Formats: sequence, structure tokens, C-alpha cells
Amino acid sequence: MKIIIGSDHGGVDLKAALVAALGAVDAGCATKASCDYPDYAVKVALAVSKGEADFGILICRSGIGMSMCANRFANVRAAVCATVEAAVTTRQHNGANVLCMGADALSIGYAVEMAKAFIATPVDMDARHARRRAKLERAGRLSDASVLAQADAEVFAAVEAQTRQEDGAINLIASENYVSRACRAAAGSVLMNKYAEGYPGNRWYSGCGPVDQVERLAIERAKTLFGADHANVQPNGGSAANMAVYAAALKAGDTIMSMALDQGGHLSHGAKVNFSGKFLNVVPYGVSRETETIDYDALEAQALEVKPKLLVAGASAYPRIIDFKRIREICDKAGCLMMVDMAHIGGLVAGGAHPSPVPYADFVTATTHKTLCGPRGGIILCKAEYAKAVDMAVFPGLQGGPLENMIAAKAVCFREWLQGGRQGYARRVVDNCRALCKTVQDRGYRIVSGGTDNHLFLVDVKASRGICGKDAAAALDAAGIVANKNTIPYDTEGPFKASGVRIGTASVTTRGMGTGEMIKIGTWIADILDDIASEPTRARVRAEAAELCARFPVP
Ligand SMILES: *Cc1c(COP(=O)(O)O)cnc(C)c1O
Repeated sequence: MKIIIGSDHGGVDLKAALVAALGAVDAGCATKASCDYPDYAVKVALAVSKGEADFGILICRSGIGMSMCANRFANVRAAVCATVEAAVTTRQHNGANVLCMGADALSIGYAVEMAKAFIATPVDMDARHARRRAKLERAGRLSDASVLAQADAEVFAAVEAQTRQEDGAINLIASENYVSRACRAAAGSVLMNKYAEGYPGNRWYSGCGPVDQVERLAIERAKTLFGADHANVQPNGGSAANMAVYAAALKAGDTIMSMALDQGGHLSHGAKVNFSGKFLNVVPYGVSRETETIDYDALEAQALEVKPKLLVAGASAYPRIIDFKRIREICDKAGCLMMVDMAHIGGLVAGGAHPSPVPYADFVTATTHKTLCGPRGGIILCKAEYAKAVDMAVFPGLQGGPLENMIAAKAVCFREWLQGGRQGYARRVVDNCRALCKTVQDRGYRIVSGGTDNHLFLVDVKASRGICGKDAAAALDAAGIVANKNTIPYDTEGPFKASGVRIGTASVTTRGMGTGEMIKIGTWIADILDDIASEPTRARVRAEAAELCARFPVP
């Protein structure tokens, strides 16, 4: 049991007595010379916040200023108490871990009795107290941003609205997720103030010690997490990461092969409107009409004929396992480089729920904000021989100063995976997806490729109910279920209307929902899509969905 005690000049004598009685660490102050109470409150609160101390005690003349300061720190619950009863109750109900005392009103004997009672009292695990403590923690969802409430009310209003939307809607957008509070804190930290063109140990600006430290952490953690030779953590997004690989490996006019956009590919894989389609010669490949999955024999034949310089695997709307080993064999036969864009499945790969492309591909790109549950951003993993070319392509090739605050948030995200904080998450995402998919399928909806192996599936709403994806998504949205319209392979509708809806389970799994909840949600989806004009169904689902959301709080 480690106890740390701090006081200002008003509490020096009481502090000395408590330190002796409790065998505690003395955090100062040392003399009765006038000093500032926050200096000592910060010391003690930080020790408790980090977990270096189990309990803190803070003393000033009233105890109040100390408590105000200490309560600004995460994991600290500081309570000003003047009676043994209050100290016991705040332990039991609020799980207080810092006791603040007013030296003016307490005798030394009574203060020691109060501190001993505080430390000896266990936190009450009764459901109603646990619920209230959880709400106390969750106040951080808004209080973290409350600096904006006065400084910029309009921006704060948007943050409030986003918070409410996340709390109240069932998010099935396959490319989205929720980050941890720790990740948000890193992204909003002072690390954003630093210019750091270059790489750790080799920057164009002075004063890069702290950001070097954080970028090295991100690089090492990414390499460990994915078993990669080299990692570049600077790309500002998935598209930026892809652009850098093209710049590292290709010249203008080179030929690449990639999955067609309307069959599940991504804009940055060579769409005409995208930079990639403007400077590369892009030959798309698709899925089989019959199975709606990649036909590897057909892909091999096409690659041998086209002889691309680079073959891109990976997609935004492909519900099946991709056989990276087979694609490596195809690339070797065709004599081309292999790139895998695992933007969507990065978290499944990290968590062992999808085979890793890293042993096979020359280059692997990923976004950190989809199944990986990290901040918006991109990374590149590559074989050692391409490390220099990739780093040169990102900087000075394409980007200027990296966003070190976002790199810090990426480092936090990677650690959450490495330290087991996401143990079983990837598997649960896939299990949830299967359960949700099967529920919708059992109600008579046609699922593209007949099912799913990963975190997403596509419902062919046109073939199933004669409606378009756009109308289906709008009807679901009105019932509190958020998903997006999506084209399906060989779609007879254009991308604006589309025949499909894409549904993903990464976000709902992060909220802690399981297969039981997926069956409920799948039933609601079918209820809504069976009759997209029914106002009563919409109202019922909206109410039931809101009730479900309340039970599964967003981190
Ligand atoms: C989402 C996605 C990207 C793009 O990521 P941004 O961060 O939005 O640039 C790239 N590739 C694929 C396959 C994606 O699904």
C-alpha cells in the first residue's frame, strides 16, 4: 500500500504527523514559508493518476483548493472530508482515492483516525454505486472538450452534437470506430506544436527530443505488432500512405493492377478522379460473377497478360478473407511488386482474425482509424530493402512536417493491442459480423458472396426488396441505425443510388456488444427494410435502439 501526502504551508504540521502515522511518502512542502497549493496537489494527483500511489492525502487550510486541483487529473477522485463518516462514505460510494483535509478544523488525532478509516474502507461494488461511478468517468467524454465551451461555443456545439450522435446511434459504418480516451488525449496534446520535418534523430528543426521519443515508440510498436522490417508512421491517412508507396515504387505511366472501385476497391487504387489514376496506367481486376469472390486463377491469367509493375490487393468493401500467399505467388509469376492495402482489416490482422499480408507483401499500407481503433491516419510497413525509398517518398517526397500528436495517438493505439487491452476484440468483431449477417440473411436478404469472413458484409437490397441502397440507408438512419449505401459487384445502379448497403461491426464491438445484440440489430434492420416507408416500425426501432445504446456506452 503506497500513500503519498502533500500540503501547503498551512498543513505542514498535520502532514508530518500523518506521514509518520501512515508510513507515507512526503511530497512536500518542507517548511512553513508561504507556497502555492497547486504545486503539491499536482505532485500527489499525478502519482495517483499514474498508479504510482494507491492513495493520496492533500492538506491546506480548508482542503478545498487542493481538491479542486487534484480533480483535474484522470483517475483521481479527490474528496474534502471533515468527518470519519464522510471519509468512509466517499470511499464506498465514489471510490475516492485522494483525501483532502482542512488543517484549520482538524485535530491531529482525529485527522489520523479519518485517514486510517478512508484507507481501510473498500469501494462498494453495489450496482447503483458502480453505475454512478461509471457516469462520473464518462463525464470525461464532454469535460475533456469543455475548454471550448467558453473559448469557442460554436465548435463546442459540434463536439457536443457528435458526442450525442455517437452515444445515441448504432454505428454500422464499416470504416469507422471509436478511439480510447487515451488516444484522444494524445491527439489533442501539445505534441501538435512541434515542427519535425525528417525522421527521429535526423530532423530539420531543433528541439525534437520529445517528438523523436514518441515517433520512435510508434515505429517500434508498429513493427512489433505486425512483425514488419520497417514502419513509417507519418502518412496523414490511408490515401497518403498509398500515394507514398506508388511514389517509392513506380514512375509516372507505370502499369498497376488493382481491384475495381465498383467491386470493392478504393479511390486511391487508381480511380480516374484520384491522383493515382492520373499518373498511373491502371488495369482493374474484379470478382467472379458467380461467387462474387476473387477468382485467383483468373487474376493470375490477367496478371501474366498485363505484366503490371505492381499489383495492389486490399479493398473497402470485400467481405471475404484475401489469400495473400496466393497473391504473392501470382506476383512472383508475373514478376511484379506486391502491395497490400489493409486499411479496413488492419485490426483483424493485428488481432489474429485475418491472415497477415506482412510476410508476403513488399509494401503494406493501413489506416489506423478503422478496425485498428486508433486515430485518423495511415502507416506504411515494408521490407527492409524498400525502407529508404518509402521514407524518402513520405518526406520530402509528399508531406512536410508530420503530425506528431497523431503519431503519438498511433503509438497509444499500437500499445493497446500489444498490451492485451484489445485481447479477443478482432475475433469478437468477426463473430459479431457473422451473427448479424446471418440474422439479416435468414430474413430473406441476399448477401453478396453469401456471407462474410471479416468485419463487414454487403446486403443486396435491390435484389432482395427492389429498393436502392440510398433509400435503404436513409430509412435505417431515420431509425437510429447508421450504415452506408454501397455498390455491389456488377451493380446495375450507379454509385449514387447503388444496390447495396455495407454493414460493419467494428464500432458496435468496441462498445462491448456481442452476438445477442447483433441478433437484435439484424432483426431491426430486416424490420425496417421490409417496409422502408413504415413510420411505426421506424419509431419502434428508434426507441429500442436508443435503449440498447444506453446500455453499451461509447468509450
Ligand atoms: C479507407 C481506405 C483508404 C483511405 O483512407 P483515408 O485515410 O481516408 O485516406 C485507403 N484504402 C482503402 C482500401 C480504404 O478502405
